[in-house]
Amino acid sequence: MNRETILLNKFYGYNSFKEGQYEVISKIISGKDCFCVLPTGGGKSICYQIPALLFEGLTIVISPLVSLMKNQVDDLKTIGISSEYIHGGLSLEEIDGILKRAYFGEIKILYIAPERLDSESFIKKVGKIDISQIAIDEAHCVSIWGHDFRKSYLNIGRFIETLPRRPIITAFTATATNQVLEDSIKLLNLKKPFIYKGNPNRENLQIYIHKEEDKLEFVTDFIKENNSGFGIIYCLTTKEVDGLYGYLKDRGYNVGKYHGKMSIEERNFNQEEFLNDNIEVIVATNAFGMGIDKSNISFIIHFTMAKNIESYYQEVGRAGRDGEKAYCHLLYNREDIASVEYLINTSIEFNRREVELKKLQNFIEFCDYEGCFKYFIMNYFGEKNTKDYCNSCSNCFKNEEVRDMTIEAQKILSCIYRTKEEVGESVLVDILRGIRGPKIEERKYYELSTFAIMKEYSGTLIRDIISELIEQGYLSRKEKTYSMMKLNKKSLEVLKGREKVFIKLEEKSTDLCLDQELFKRFRILRKDLSRREGVKPYIIFTDNLLIEIVNNYPRTKEELSKIKGLGENKLNKYGPFILTVIRDYDKYKKAIETGAN
Ligand code: ADP
Repeated sequence: MNRETILLNKFYGYNSFKEGQYEVISKIISGKDCFCVLPTGGGKSICYQIPALLFEGLTIVISPLVSLMKNQVDDLKTIGISSEYIHGGLSLEEIDGILKRAYFGEIKILYIAPERLDSESFIKKVGKIDISQIAIDEAHCVSIWGHDFRKSYLNIGRFIETLPRRPIITAFTATATNQVLEDSIKLLNLKKPFIYKGNPNRENLQIYIHKEEDKLEFVTDFIKENNSGFGIIYCLTTKEVDGLYGYLKDRGYNVGKYHGKMSIEERNFNQEEFLNDNIEVIVATNAFGMGIDKSNISFIIHFTMAKNIESYYQEVGRAGRDGEKAYCHLLYNREDIASVEYLINTSIEFNRREVELKKLQNFIEFCDYEGCFKYFIMNYFGEKNTKDYCNSCSNCFKNEEVRDMTIEAQKILSCIYRTKEEVGESVLVDILRGIRGPKIEERKYYELSTFAIMKEYSGTLIRDIISELIEQGYLSRKEKTYSMMKLNKKSLEVLKGREKVFIKLEEKSTDLCLDQELFKRFRILRKDLSRREGVKPYIIFTDNLLIEIVNNYPRTKEELSKIKGLGENKLNKYGPFILTVIRDYDKYKKAIETGAN
């Protein structure tokens, strides 16, 4: 194993790099400046953190928001990497204390906001430290063409010039058109940088655009159906936020709100409540979000259209960071265009207005587009060679063609044959997906040739195919049973390859957690630990990690150490708690079984 992978495993608990990570890391380590465009959730942080660990000296990360820095630092500390961040709440002595520790090599990664670089005395003090890398997060903010343009970002280039030794400069963003990329490279004065442009497509996001819908009805119906999911509803103005928030609150929903006209305390309180999983839905203007790296947001609703495609894609990108399926609904009424135009004309500096109006025009074209929405977005970001069909946007669903699913049907039917028509639907699905449940162990179904034959399919998708097979008469329900199935004449035709099966599925699905009750117990544990340690729940465990644990059901520390995403530090710190939850759950299940007999 090379040293990058050893560190990845030791600190983060992952066995392999995500797409692009290794390439970027090795270029940085070889001493090259780097500009990296990776989608949200693509794992940008590790790209500069692993080099930081390998380099002598300090890595400074320039990051736009305090909350973002705090989360990163909390995260790094829990996995055992020494790091700090400098924010407005610190006294001069405290800041000096941090810089001193950095000077003596006691801190590996230091996060600062770009505004720090407005101060000459700060620059002077930092200049004394041995800095190996400066990483710029949200690097699109450097460019006037970027959607979150921040003046202080322009100071970075000058700051670098004042340093006695030029560190390696690395820049990261999730969304950058070629224009933003070129502009940022120039302004940051990157030297022949290695440019990595990952595929910006986020496959787990499902994009829906609804035209001229009754917005209030849509939102209430959606939240009602989507119970227990966390989500953000974006509005254009503070007035709209107040109105929608009041409307939902009156109807008893667990909502919060966030906009620039609220007091800082109130805003921070609501943000914390949302991040701590106490508020499920937050109604907000676009002021909310840049620092939100909560991993389990499962939906974003744009109550009013966004200002441009970059903002829209950044906003929807806040959902599904954990890789789970997430819904992005945009409610588009043509009369909203005038409101957005008004906002641009009244709130944006004159010299940027034309740029913004042009971007609004692109956004309108996007909303009116008849083809695949993701294809449109990818093209906008200069991504060539994208499929013009994603099967995860409302246009693709609408235009969906019927698919030939004969092979899937044959796999399912043959599994029913091999299990002698003796198992119910859920066991059948488990066999097909290769999951060893108690019945499967007991009857040795894992020895069947059809065991794990559909392991890359989600359970929901297999169930959907089964329902379609029954509906179309290729399979029958067994009478007097709850969920068993039996083959019929038509099934045999399919099995023998004499008949093809065509199915039109509504949506792709990736529901992967196998035991919701155990998952709920882990969420409670996570909340306890997060309270005790004063960090956000998802910093302790992401939902994905919990699902990994639930699905693998580890009973020993050794088994637990094989779980993806659980590094050495977390394993030692939280391992005993996790195993206790599982032991208790074992007992609980046993008690139920005994009670039932
Ligand atoms: P970004 O900043 O690009 O949005 P993050 O750095 O926050 O992404 O990473 C997103 C998630 O992916 C985090 O939960 C992180 O722990 C996880 N992650 C990062 N690298 C890997 C990897 N190599 N394997 C698995 N998960 C990873």
